Amino acid sequence: TGLVVAIDGPSGSGKSSVSRGVAKALGFRYLDTGAMYRAVTWWMLKHGVDVDSPEAVAARAAEPVLSIGTGPEAPTVRVDGEDVAGPIRGAEVTAAVSAVSAVPEVRSRLVAEQRSIIGAGDIVVEGRDIGTVVAPDARLKVFLTASAEARAARRAAELSGTTVEAQRAAMARRDALDSTRKAAPLAKAADAVELDTTELTLDEVIAEVLRLVKE
Ligand code: C5P
Repeated sequence: TGLVVAIDGPSGSGKSSVSRGVAKALGFRYLDTGAMYRAVTWWMLKHGVDVDSPEAVAARAAEPVLSIGTGPEAPTVRVDGEDVAGPIRGAEVTAAVSAVSAVPEVRSRLVAEQRSIIGAGDIVVEGRDIGTVVAPDARLKVFLTASAEARAARRAAELSGTTVEAQRAAMARRDALDSTRKAAPLAKAADAVELDTTELTLDEVIAEVLRLVKE
């Protein structure tokens, strides 16, 4: 297998922008594992599955067929052949994704797919459990953090028709669910480097991760 850079952290910590920037600079592929959980969630909602019932979600966890592009310039996400890059960022999916991703049957299938994609060569992988579960042997593990204020402000700037306060509340809820679930909760790996991005620009964070990779 190739070289793996694992980037974990809570929502809004800058994982996607940082991971894509690092992958471009290194000429590596890029995998957004959150997009996979979002795609499965989109499929569950589309098929009328009660996402608050772990049994109902588990029963259909194997059905959605995912296809994930790993180009850092334009990552793609398809479910059953349909391009869902837009809808998986919507409020409905965002509100339901923590419940779906807490279901062990969903995690085990996606972790297996993630490991198979990772096995194909050098890659930057972002998520919540990459350093702890998916790629414990990663060459470098980074755990990104930022103040709740900064994270909410960044997310509000990316989305239209929302406020910093609404984003702060939505993120606090999602982070609490992601950190307290039984299956692979969001956690910093013991050997991860924690990087607080609150006071840093995107380019500064990318430069720091590149420095760590080369160390
Ligand atoms: O990174 P993003 O915000 O798109 O992730 C969406 C959700 O997917 C997270 O809130 C979390 O519930 C779930 N997730 C996960 N494990 C990962 C990546 C994402 O449980 N490795």
